[in-house]
Amino acid sequence: MKVLLMVDIQNDFSPTGSLAVKDGDEIIPFVNDQQDAFDLIVATQDWHPKNHSSFAEHYPGKSPGEVITLGDIEQILWPTHCVQNSYGAEFISGLKTKKINQVVQKGMNSNIDSYSGFFDNDHKNATGLHQYLQDQKVNDIYIVGLATDYCVKFTALDAAQLGYSTTVLKKGVRGVDLASGDIEQAFAEMQTAGVKID
Ligand SMILES: [Zn+2]
Repeated sequence: MKVLLMVDIQNDFSPTGSLAVKDGDEIIPFVNDQQDAFDLIVATQDWHPKNHSSFAEHYPGKSPGEVITLGDIEQILWPTHCVQNSYGAEFISGLKTKKINQVVQKGMNSNIDSYSGFFDNDHKNATGLHQYLQDQKVNDIYIVGLATDYCVKFTALDAAQLGYSTTVLKKGVRGVDLASGDIEQAFAEMQTAGVKID
């Protein structure tokens, strides 16, 4: 079984969102077209409580893009985004959602971020995505979504690590490029880990 995994295609990651991904909405027609080729479609949503520790607004004097240490891992501070039940957390309008079989939410623990659709950033807590895909007898994962250099990358790396044949569909992803070159480096890292870029 193969699955189309749509990562974080949410308003706050659209070009008008609070954590805007340049041209993030350009993927929508491609992603909608891809859906016809899949019998199983899963979407992830970044789904933060208001007090999430990745939000720069909670650290007086700090700005988005700065890095802090949370627990023992580095955390980039972000603009407030994808707050649970807010407009920013909804799927980008135009994305076809009728065929979605399962929505997996992540980032609900205010103390840790979750870039990957599979695990929190410390890899201690699973989101349930792996279990769901196992139950559905999935072997092949095709990934689209936002953003290439964060949630797409870490989802793809975990998928490959978990043993899935993993492909990132290049036309269906866009990145942040906080530092110029991040997107190209993300593709290179994924390829090194055995992820196919198509
Ligand atoms: Zn987030």
